[in-house]
This record gives sequence, C-alpha cells and structure tokens, in this order.
Amino acid sequence: MPKSSAIVVVNAGSSSIKFSLFGEDGADLSAFLNGQIEGLYTGSAHFVAHDVETGPAGEKRWDGAPISHDDAIRHLLDFVRGHLGEHQIIAVGHRIVHGGTEFAAPVRLDADVLSRLERVIPLAPLHEPHNLAPIRTIFDVAPHLFQVGCFDTAFHAAQPPLAQTFALPAEITDRGVRRYGFHGLSYEYIASVLPSLDPGLARAKVIVAHLGNGASLCAINAGRSIASTMGFTAVEGLPMGTRSGSIDPGVILYLIDELKMGPRDIEALLYKKSGLLGVSGISSDMRMLQTSPDPRARLAIDLFIYRIGREIGSLAAALGGLDALVFTAGIGEHSAQVRRDACRAAAWLGVELDEAANEAGGPRISTQGSKVSAWTVGTNEELMIARHTRQSLEAA
Ligand code: ADP
Repeated sequence: MPKSSAIVVVNAGSSSIKFSLFGEDGADLSAFLNGQIEGLYTGSAHFVAHDVETGPAGEKRWDGAPISHDDAIRHLLDFVRGHLGEHQIIAVGHRIVHGGTEFAAPVRLDADVLSRLERVIPLAPLHEPHNLAPIRTIFDVAPHLFQVGCFDTAFHAAQPPLAQTFALPAEITDRGVRRYGFHGLSYEYIASVLPSLDPGLARAKVIVAHLGNGASLCAINAGRSIASTMGFTAVEGLPMGTRSGSIDPGVILYLIDELKMGPRDIEALLYKKSGLLGVSGISSDMRMLQTSPDPRARLAIDLFIYRIGREIGSLAAALGGLDALVFTAGIGEHSAQVRRDACRAAAWLGVELDEAANEAGGPRISTQGSKVSAWTVGTNEELMIARHTRQSLEAA
C-alpha cells in the first residue's frame, strides 16, 4: 500500500456513524483522523472530527432538519475528501455486526454480496440495517471504491459445533438459530496483541472480558475463539448497560401470557430497560453507579460481578483450564474496582491480583506468582477493520 494511501473505517449504529482514517505506520496502520455524527433522525445531529496530531478538525450542527444515514455518510465523505492532504482513499472498511452462517471472514462488498447480507437482517434487525446503509450510499457516490465488510461474528465462526448449538429440534437449528457470538473484532484485536504482552499467551487458554455498554466474555485457546457468552443475539450472557443478559426463556412466556406483552415491548424490556439500568433504576453508566449511595446501584454492580464470576467458571470449563484473564472496553479498561472484584470472583481458579498494579492500570494486574495471569488491554476494533481491509485489498 503506497505511503499516501488512506483506509476509511466506518462504524454505523442506529443513531450515529463513527469513522476513522488509517494510514501506513511502519508495518502496521494507525489512525490519523477520526470523528462521528451523532443524533441521526433527531433533528439535532452533531458532527465532530479530530486530527490525531493537531486536535479539532471540524464540527457541524444540524438544528431542525433530521439527518439520515445516507445524508451522514455523504457529509462524512465530503469532509474526508477535503481533509485528505496528500492522502488518497483506497478503500473503506465497514463494521457489520452479523455475517450469518455464510460470512465467516471479511468480504469484498459488491451488489451481490450486499443482497446476500440483506438476508441476514432478520438475525440482527436492530443493528444490521444501519451497518449496511452506508455501503449502499458509497456504491452510489463512489461506485469504484473498494469496500470490505468485517463481521463481529466472524472470529467465533470456527467455534466447535457443540459451542454453537442450542438444544432445539433440527428444523429450528437449520434455520440458523444457533449461537454466533459477538464483539469478535475486539476479541480478534486482543488475541493479536496477547503475544506482545507475554509470548506464552500465544498458545494459552485465555478468557477475555469485553466490558462496555455491551458486555461479553470469550474463551480463546491458542488465539482461537472456542466459546463465548453471547449467542444468537447480543442479549445473551452477562447483564449489560441496558440489556438483561441470560434469563430463563420461561420468563418470556410469562410476559406474553400473564402480562400480555407483545414482541416489541419485550424487545424494549430486554434491550433497553434491563441490565445495570433496570436493576438500579438509576443509570446504565458504571461510573454513575459507582458513585451512587443508593443500595440499588450496589445491587446492579454486585449482580454484574456475580454473573461475570459464574461465566468465567463456565468458560474455564469449556477451555479445560485457564492461563490468563484479560479485561478490555470502557469498564474493563477503566474500572480498577470492577477488575478487582472480578479477579476475586476468579480467585479459586488461581487469579491473584496485584492491587497496586491494578490501581495503576496494568497492563499486568496479577502478582508474579499468580497461577493465572491477569491483564488490562485497550481494545481497537477500528484498527482490526483497517487491517482486514488492507489484507482484502492486497489479496484482490
Ligand atoms: P460501548 O460498548 O458503547 O463502546 P464503552 O466500551 O465505551 O461502551 O464502555 C462504556 C462503559 O464504560 C460505561 O458503563 C462507562 O460508565 C464505563 N466507564 C468508562 N470509564 C469508566 C471509569 N473510569 N470507571 C468506571 N466505568 C467506566
């Protein structure tokens, strides 16, 4: 890839689009410009961009006029083209939450692939349409630009069949109702940096805790995902900011039969009103809960830790042992308290926390004598997408 080339990474959600521009940095890539448009469809969208070297690079507000994904990506492309300097865009990499059963690796996007991806929408109706929207707009604005889709499910695609299967009749499983796992780009990035922390981790049994607004754990054996707490959707597993995590499926039947709730009400309950927010009744934000004197805030945090402890036990069983525990994402990278309590919940497996190292932010947060090492590592899903996009381009 020529020195002046730039790769755009796009991460489109329901109400925002984030972007980063990556250029060559030695053998790897690094971001030199990033930003986002927030508040899509609200009538008060806000765009900001930040140059990694020089600081604020652009800002715009739309007051009154609702901005769609299409409007937003057109604005971003215009902005990016005006701020490229000597750089030239050679490709765009997109974060796509679900690859379904068909897409188990990054894929070059064209009209045929896009229509096959549209068939995956029923598996992730809340996210997939937003992920796909910018691809269409870019086909329209710049038909020859090389576009690559990178999937949050792909890192988990090679999990053993037993880890992917629900105990449901075959005709349901055959419709794609199975466990996929998410946060794969984050886990893949963490797996890529493990050997630089300790060469032995390349072949180790590792549990990675991605603890952000969305939260999950992944069991990695010698760099490969073998099990994860999220399954068919990103609501399984741990309680999250506003998602319930695993609950007895019988609860859903009770909500339908006794409380007469419909599918959209149940969806809102499980995705938007539960988790830390639902239990505390205060906030989905870990920082707010940690400073609140309200016992319900304490209960929400305690439940989060308790579930992490149980799921660590479950994934350690799937791995047949444990060599290392790694924390990442907003809570995992920044909350020494959550890391300490989660390590205590895993003490029986041989995790011995180094309190001072944990307070200092790591990267290693376990004692030298700890049987299982513990770490905190910043994740970088955008870099993973940029790397995949460059690889796809080089292989084309
Ligand atoms: P997302 O999943 O939306 O990318 P993040 O990875 O940014 O989310 O994580 C957001 C979570 O991280 C919030 O619950 C926030 O309170 C928490 N967080 C960020 N910084 C801290 C901190 N210093 N202490 C505790 N929690 C923090």
